[in-house]
Amino acid sequence: MGREELEQRLAAVRRRIDDAARSAGRDPAAVRLLAVSKTVPAAVVRLAFEAGCHDLGESRAQELAGKVRELADVSPRWVFLGPVQTNKARDVARDADELHSLDRLELAVALQRRLEMVDRSLDVLVQVNTSGEAEKSGVAPGDLTELVRAVAPLDRLRVRGLMTIAPRGGDLDAARRCFRELATLAERVRGEAVDGVGMDELSMGMSGDLEAAIAEGATTVRVGTALFGTR
Ligand SMILES: *Cc1c(COP(=O)(O)O)cnc(C)c1O
Repeated sequence: MGREELEQRLAAVRRRIDDAARSAGRDPAAVRLLAVSKTVPAAVVRLAFEAGCHDLGESRAQELAGKVRELADVSPRWVFLGPVQTNKARDVARDADELHSLDRLELAVALQRRLEMVDRSLDVLVQVNTSGEAEKSGVAPGDLTELVRAVAPLDRLRVRGLMTIAPRGGDLDAARRCFRELATLAERVRGEAVDGVGMDELSMGMSGDLEAAIAEGATTVRVGTALFGTR
């Protein structure tokens, strides 16, 4: 994909975000566009960075490591959004600035240890399985508060909010119910005022459902296909 096409696609996505925010009575600047660059070649990712996408999403540790090297001169903000096996905690701790897929205490503890070793810290969102689909990762809504309380004392992890993925199949009403549930859960955790835990970030909405997510309060939308084409 060339620079011109990418810039056009980016402008179209930004327009969608702006329109959705305005319809919801929200400030478009309060919605961050996370460009999901997984599977996209580093040269194209560089074009996206140059076009203004400074937050980039990856879902495989090895691919992230390669791109961190190839884009070291511009150093984007790298966001990890795929499932993390515990034995990949070292790579995520070394390479990612932010993690959207924290789903269990065991992973948090492994990350804390690896972050101490490289003297870094990590912004994390807890992934919640709002759709109830068995194959989806994420903590069950009923277990969220307990997990947040357990992660809170780990000082290298800064809990910033929640993330969810809508069910497969593109049913917008079903997606919207999941997004609404995530916003409600964040509100509930906020009400518990756990020390050191922030709940300002709601990462929800992708290429097909970002409008519904923004209507329900998304602060980050994660967009791959609409920017880079079909994977
Ligand atoms: C791939 C991916 C996206 C981007 O999805 P698109 O439909 O391509 O916009 C967003 N979030 C997560 C967690 C992903 O894995």
